[in-house]
Amino acid sequence: MKILITGAAGFIGSHLSETLLQRGHQVIGMDNLLTGRIENIEHLFGKADFAFVKHDVTNYIHVPGKLDAVLHFASPASPIDYAQYPIPTLKVGALGTHKAIGLAKEKGAIFMLASTSEVYGDPIINPQPESYWGNVNPIGPRGVYDEAKRFAEALAMAYRRYHGMQVRIARIFNTYGPRMRKKDGRAVPNFITQALKGRPITVYGKGSQTRSLCYISDLVEGILRLLRSGLNAPVNIGNPQEISILELAETIRRLARSKSRIAYKPLPADDPRVRRPDIALARKALQWKPKVSLEEGLRRTIEYFRSS
Ligand code: UDP
Repeated sequence: MKILITGAAGFIGSHLSETLLQRGHQVIGMDNLLTGRIENIEHLFGKADFAFVKHDVTNYIHVPGKLDAVLHFASPASPIDYAQYPIPTLKVGALGTHKAIGLAKEKGAIFMLASTSEVYGDPIINPQPESYWGNVNPIGPRGVYDEAKRFAEALAMAYRRYHGMQVRIARIFNTYGPRMRKKDGRAVPNFITQALKGRPITVYGKGSQTRSLCYISDLVEGILRLLRSGLNAPVNIGNPQEISILELAETIRRLARSKSRIAYKPLPADDPRVRRPDIALARKALQWKPKVSLEEGLRRTIEYFRSS
C-alpha cells in the first residue's frame, strides 16, 4: 500500500512509519514539527519507499498520485502541549482532520483517525467500552484536545455515512516507549527522567488516579490490524492492566534502581480519576491483545532514556 501518515515525526507516527516500511509498504510522512522531531525519522530518510514532507495539515494537503490509506496521527498529545498550543490542537483535530479525510476521499483511500481515550473524559464507568459516550468538560484546559478529537470522530462517521468511505477510528489509550520526549510532561517520561537523575519524582494529587499503559509495539500492531479490518467504527486500542500513578512512580523508581523521593504536587484540572480500556472488541474483531508486560516495556523505555 501507499500510505500517508500525518504526524509522522511524532512518537507514535514514527514507530508506525517504521513498521509499515518494514512490512513492504510505501510511506509518505508529513509533519509540521510543532511537537514532532526530525530525529525520530532521520533513520528512515535513506529508504527508497519513504518520503518526508514538512507541512501543516490544517492547510490544504496536496499529494500527487495514488494513495491507499491516509493515517491522521498529527496532534499535540500531552497535557502540557495542549496548554502551550491550545489553538493548534483544536485546529489539527478539526481543520486537519477535514483536510486529511478530504484527501482520502479524493484518492478513494481508507481514512484512519488517531482518536483517544480522552473522548471519555473523566469517565463515570470503568473500564470504558466503545459504547460509552464520555464525561468531558468542553471548556476546561483538556477540552481543546478532547473536543477536537470528538469532532474528528463525528466528521469521520459523517463521511462514512454520507460518502460511504472506509474509515477507521482508533481510540488510543496511554502509550509509552522509546522516542517520547524527555520533556514531554507525561507521567512516564517525567518519572524516568527524574528517577535517573535522582531528582524527586513528581506525583500529582495523591497518585491514586489510575492509568493503563500500553507499550508502543503492541499499540502499532493493534493499529495495523485495525487498518486491515473492515471496522468502520471506533475501537479501543490499549492495555487493560490498570495501575495507580503512585504505583507507577514506585515501579519506575525500582526498575531504574533510583533513590529519588516522591514529591506530591497539585492535581491538574480535570485530570481523569480512572482510565482503563475495555478491549473486548479489539480482541474479538482484530484477534489482538497486548503482549509486552509493564515491567518489560518500562525496562526498554528506561534503557532508551539512559542512552539518549
Ligand atoms: N502525572 C503525575 N506526575 C507527572 C506527570 C503526570 O503524577 O509528573 C499524572 C497526571 O496527573 C495523570 C497521570 O499522571 O494523572 C497521567 O498523566 P499523563 O500526562 O501521562 O497522561 P494523561 O493524563 O493524558 O493520561
